[in-house]
Amino acid sequence: MINLVLFGPPGAGKGTQAEFLKEKYELVHISTGDVFRFNIKNATELGVLAKSFIDKGQLVPDEVTINMLNAEVEKNPEAKGFIFDGFPRTSAQADALAELLTSKGTDVSAMVALEVEDEVLVKRLLERGKTSGRADDADESVIRNRIAVYYKETAILKDYYQAKDKYFGVDGVGSIEEITERISKVINTL
Ligand code: ADP
Repeated sequence: MINLVLFGPPGAGKGTQAEFLKEKYELVHISTGDVFRFNIKNATELGVLAKSFIDKGQLVPDEVTINMLNAEVEKNPEAKGFIFDGFPRTSAQADALAELLTSKGTDVSAMVALEVEDEVLVKRLLERGKTSGRADDADESVIRNRIAVYYKETAILKDYYQAKDKYFGVDGVGSIEEITERISKVINTL
C-alpha cells in the first residue's frame, strides 16, 4: 500500500495535486477539509460543530477530527492506498494515524510537503475566496490566522516524519503539471 500524507500550509495546493495523484496512482483521497465542508453543507451535528472552529480559522478539536478520519478510512476497505490531505495537522493526529494504519498492517509511506512562501499563500487564498464560496478564504485575517495555526501546531510534523526518514519537501511554486511531476518523482522512489 502507498499511504501519502500531503502536507503544507493552507493554499499550498494539496487539494489540486491530490486530484491528479489519486488518478495516477489509484489511491483514495481523503480531505478532512472537504469532509467538514460536506457536513457543514448538510448541517449535520459534526458540521455545525466544525463550522464554529473553521469560520475563525481554528482547528477542529483532535478527538472529533480523528474519529471522522477513522470512519473515512473504514469506508474504503478495498483501497490500494490513501492520500491524506489536511490530516494529520497535530502530533496527536499523527499518532492516531500511525495507530490506525498499524492496525491494518500498513503505515505512512511518505509525507510530501508542498513548500510555498506565506505571501504567495495569502494571495492564492484571497483569489480562491472570490469563487470558492469558502468563508475562511474571504477574510484576510482568517487566512493569516490559519497560516499562524499551521506554524504553531502543524509545522512540527515535519520533524515527526523527518525522524522516520519519511519527509520529502517539494517546491510548490510552478505549473500544476510541474508540481505533479516533482511529487511523482518522490512517489516513484517509494
Ligand atoms: P486549507 O485550505 O486551509 O488547508 P482545508 O480545506 O484542509 O484548509 O481545511 C479547512 C479547515 O478545516 C481548517 O482551517 C480547519 O479549521 C479544519 N480542518 C481541516 N483538517 C483538519 C484537521 N486535520 N484537524 C483540525 N481541523 C481541521
